[in-house]
Amino acid sequence: MQSIIILYKNKQFHIVIICIGLLLQLFIRNEVLAKNVNSSYKVGEISIHFRGANADNETENTRLIQGLNSSLKTVLSSSIFSSNILPAWGIIIDGSFTESEGYFSSELKTPAGLPAILLQRNALINEAGQTRLIAHELFHLMHFQKRPKEADWVQEGLAQLTEYLVTGNFNRSLLSAFTSPETSLTEGFAFHDREQNSKNQTLAQYGHALQYFYYLYRLCGKNELYEILVNSSSQKNGVNFIDEQLKILAHTKTLDPICTSFEKSFVAFEHARFFPKVAPSSSYIISADMAATVRPKPNAIPLPPFSARAFKLQNEQNCSPGIIIDGDCFEIRLGN
Ligand SMILES: [Zn+2]
Repeated sequence: MQSIIILYKNKQFHIVIICIGLLLQLFIRNEVLAKNVNSSYKVGEISIHFRGANADNETENTRLIQGLNSSLKTVLSSSIFSSNILPAWGIIIDGSFTESEGYFSSELKTPAGLPAILLQRNALINEAGQTRLIAHELFHLMHFQKRPKEADWVQEGLAQLTEYLVTGNFNRSLLSAFTSPETSLTEGFAFHDREQNSKNQTLAQYGHALQYFYYLYRLCGKNELYEILVNSSSQKNGVNFIDEQLKILAHTKTLDPICTSFEKSFVAFEHARFFPKVAPSSSYIISADMAATVRPKPNAIPLPPFSARAFKLQNEQNCSPGIIIDGDCFEIRLGN
């Protein structure tokens, strides 16, 4: 009987120990979670929150914040962000997010409920890349306040044009669109495709939109056009919106003849991508030396909407309606 009681008492003791252990574990876990969610800092007026892997690494966080400080100064002092009023906003730095270098969504909020952009923690290692990334995502946040229903391709084209206007450097997607030029300009973007082939196509599609908006910006009114495309209260979007705004602008200003409609700009733009010339200025995108890949022969693959493919015609006696370059005949086909 005595031994049974001791055993029983020991059992109770064990249960108490196990309970304390569990409570302790819960406490430690909650403490870490709380830190992950609430590792918050401020740079000027901007709230910065760390979450995910390494969120509680304070030494590293402080170092990242110092780097962010100078990137934020560059972005916020640029004429784009100093002339357009931003709502109170925040940055979420996520150590576990891997889908892309960053993103904006209207659902994304700081713990205090402010609209936010998300930056991947690893993407903040390179300061030049970080400035470009902040300009891109902050553009989305600003643009969403003004034109929440805009089409993907307009959003991404303008976001990358903004990167260029803030940093002076083009996104690498620009080159991708010269080597894989046949993507649709206007189709929806497959943002979260994990297949490498689709990723390359998505990058080329981003580049196609960047090339188009840079071309429009350069020829059709620069900052005036940019401000209209970002701030307009028009209910139209995508192709119809661009067409509407170009037509309005053509009434008030004398611009390059390619700026009078979307259709005109698109046709001239695709020719300029594949067969750039030094003059006139509407016959190249960046310079006459940068051209999109021309395929060695025609193929029967259907063209997606608002895309283009150029190829060399073999043994063609009569080149019409092709383009003769150095005695060879080329043709460009547009998808519609
Ligand atoms: Zn984007």
